[in-house]
Amino acid sequence: MFQDGIPWVLEGEAALMADQPTPRTTLTAHHHVTAWCLNCGHALEIDLPELITAGHGDTPLLELSLRCARCGERRFQLTVARAERL
Ligand SMILES: [Zn+2]
Repeated sequence: MFQDGIPWVLEGEAALMADQPTPRTTLTAHHHVTAWCLNCGHALEIDLPELITAGHGDTPLLELSLRCARCGERRFQLTVARAERL
C-alpha cells in the first residue's frame, strides 16, 4: 500500500480494510484515525464525520492533504484502530 510520494503511512487495522480506505468506509467500520506528525510528533485526531460533511467522505485517506498545526509538516503517520466507544 505504501508508495514513494505518498506522505502517509497506514498502520493498525488498515490492512484489514479496503485497499483505499476512505473516511466513509473507516467510519462505517467503526474505526478512528489518528495522524502523527513525522517531524514533531504532534498527534491529530482525524474528524471523520466532519470530513464526510465537508464532501471528502469518498476521498482515500492517503490523499487527504493535512498540515501540522504546530510545525507545518505535511508528512504524517496514520494509525487506524477500532473505536472503543460507540
Ligand atoms: Zn509537526
